[in-house]
Amino acid sequence: MAAKGAEHWKKVVKEQIQKSHVLVYSKTTCPFCKRVKKLFDVQQVASQVIELDEVENGDEIKKALEDISKQKTVPNIFLNGAHIGGCDNVLATFTKGLLSDMLLMGTQERDQFTKGHSYDYDLIVIGGGSGGLACAKEAASLGAQVCCLDFVKPSPLGTQWGLGGTCVNVGCIPKKLMHQAALLGDYMNDAPFFGWNVDTKTGEKSEAHDWKKMVSNIQSHISSLNWSYRTDLRSAGIKYINGLAEFIDPHAIKYKAKNGTESIISGARIVVAVGGRPRYLDIPGAKEYAITSDDIFSLQEPPGRTLVIGASYVALECAGFLSKMGFMTFCMVRSILLRGFDQQMANYIGDNMIKKRINFLHSCVPTKIRLVKDSPREYAVEYSNTASKKTGEITVNTVLIATGREPDTKLLGLDKAGVEMTKSGHIPTVYEQTNVPHIYAIGDVQKGKMELTPLAIQAGKLLSRRLFGGSKDYCNYLDVPTTVFTPMEYGTIGLSEEDAEEIFGKERIEVYHTSFKPLEYTVPQRQDDDGYMKLVVDKENGERVLGLHVASPNAGEITQGYAVAMRLGAKKKDFDSTIGIHPTCSETFTTLRVTKSSGEDSSAGNC
Ligand code: FAD
Ligand code: NDP
Repeated sequence: MAAKGAEHWKKVVKEQIQKSHVLVYSKTTCPFCKRVKKLFDVQQVASQVIELDEVENGDEIKKALEDISKQKTVPNIFLNGAHIGGCDNVLATFTKGLLSDMLLMGTQERDQFTKGHSYDYDLIVIGGGSGGLACAKEAASLGAQVCCLDFVKPSPLGTQWGLGGTCVNVGCIPKKLMHQAALLGDYMNDAPFFGWNVDTKTGEKSEAHDWKKMVSNIQSHISSLNWSYRTDLRSAGIKYINGLAEFIDPHAIKYKAKNGTESIISGARIVVAVGGRPRYLDIPGAKEYAITSDDIFSLQEPPGRTLVIGASYVALECAGFLSKMGFMTFCMVRSILLRGFDQQMANYIGDNMIKKRINFLHSCVPTKIRLVKDSPREYAVEYSNTASKKTGEITVNTVLIATGREPDTKLLGLDKAGVEMTKSGHIPTVYEQTNVPHIYAIGDVQKGKMELTPLAIQAGKLLSRRLFGGSKDYCNYLDVPTTVFTPMEYGTIGLSEEDAEEIFGKERIEVYHTSFKPLEYTVPQRQDDDGYMKLVVDKENGERVLGLHVASPNAGEITQGYAVAMRLGAKKKDFDSTIGIHPTCSETFTTLRVTKSSGEDSSAGNC
């Protein structure tokens, strides 16, 4: 068969360029390609990568690409059909704070909405969680006829909840309230030093903490939120259906109500906002005996001695509050703490947790969970240590699996609507739009996006404004701030130190850092609770701050404010010229002077 000519390969490349939102021609061994891919990965940029040294006809494609772009090197990057250039162009755009503008270049909705359609609704939203509710309410406020379906499948233990999704019922809200319960234990220990006549050590004993009372009070707050969400929907004129939805074609949804009756509705546009559920381990006893974050916040009996499996957000936060409430807590870590986060900070948080008597089982994976005793319940968890190659067993009253979440798309019939899904069940999107132009996905169900409530809300709200309000605003997924609510909170924005070095090169990165003693911990003589913060800066661009990290009391509150500065492209000198608020932990960001490269002691001086 005759070899295909240059014109054929040019046509192939032009088609690839036209089809993709962000397209990176790369080579697996090229260090500059690795930098760009890493940047896109950590900044949640959905890009398509073509590895020229791996694809069939890579040489022909490379030649055609050179002809089209007049660029001989890789990476060779295209955005919405336009040629962007190579690694330096992308890094310069990022470090000048222009990447989000660049990503929007030429972006437009492929879906034309007409009022005069024959569907039941202008918009059907599947999922009444953070993203779905925000999207539905915004659309209704802009005059759209909206239907929102929400249904909670019970956990294997039978736990169920009301309207509002993960955040309100089994996520952020009960988690933060239990974190607060744990912090209060610490503050009760501090109180006598400030003159309060309370029993010292109360925060350290499980009998001093009334689990049932806490759960009951938190759950009644959640019930009030569930109620207010329902009334909000009603007053916004949104049709709320408590039914489990599935696609039967690209515009039609069949739903099953609680009483088993089935109905069909149709929508001109459909938003998938079904979120995710905890992923169970595939080991004997997992579903029978273990609980997850779906169950812990409404557990009627105190958990007792607990093994938490996992080492990321959910695991560390739960281990943190359980231990502070006085329950002997173990945390089983397969590899590292807080994958994807700055590892110096992750280990700092881990060390702080060890000082707070949380027992880590490193390099261990569970292999079986057995029921040992019925009352009180006791389970034996068998595990193997991947470093020592030995096996072990630990006996606990509660096993909490926190090994990640999976999108709730298995029974959604996305195939009947022609919506593409990844193997894991996530939905690839370009600015929330799926491959089917009138079907959108927001929140945790999206591929490659951080699973956080404010992102789901922002994406849903802005999507509705574009669809029904003529807006051109898109959700910005870059430099998203976040906080891990461990006993010592860890807040972060932007790049970790190691990612910054990998993307820009070690020689271009400087780190300003300090450890500090929070003033409120001095009088009670807390020994093990020093804070630590650092700014990761780009030396070549006026010390633009690429990453901000803080382990401190109230790190969540601190980080939120600085997120605005980061969004505006703050440089180190902007932090220096900002007047601090004294006496706070946060003001320390305005006085950072010790660089890592100087090797000087990073502990802060006195006030
Ligand atoms: P969800 O809120 O999960 O809502 C999806 C809804 O759709 C659910 O009610 C679900 O039952 C329903 N549904 C699913 N399938 C169907 C169907 N077929 N038909 C009808 N309805 C359906 N984020 C933060 O920002 N800060 C935090 O502190 C924080 N803490 C967390 C703590 C824990 C323990 C967990 C698990 C998560 C936490 N998160 C936190 C993450 C946050 O909760 C999620 O990112 C957020 O809730 C995602 O919103 P969503 O709208 O995508 O989905
Ligand atoms: P993650 O996916 O972040 O972490 C999963 C953890 O489980 C990792 O430590 C992983 O280890 C471990 N793990 C995975 N599989 C296994 C296995 N088979 N055996 C042993 N360990 C395993 O999930 P989370 O549930 O912690 O969090 C889900 C999302 O919810 C987060 O990404 C976050 O976006 C959101 N969230 C946000 C919070 C906040 O804003 N404060 C709080 C809680 C959740 P390894 O590193 O080895 O893969």
